[in-house]
Amino acid sequence: MNHPFPVLEHPTDDFRGRPTFECACGCAVFVMITAFDEETRLPGWYALDGWCFECGTLVTLPTPIDDEETR
Ligand SMILES: [Zn+2]
Repeated sequence: MNHPFPVLEHPTDDFRGRPTFECACGCAVFVMITAFDEETRLPGWYALDGWCFECGTLVTLPTPIDDEETR
């Protein structure tokens, strides 16, 4: 059976540490680990570590309370 996220089988780089909206490769879509809020049916919690959907690089996902410097 094919892996649903082939890039995660062999992550490339690790750029975690600074919250980002875009991977170094230019992709702005990430794979993340989340728990859904039953009332809003939206992600209510998520792990800060994520993977670029395009290249598999590990990144730190943004949050609403990130410092202005990291934006
Ligand atoms: Zn990437």
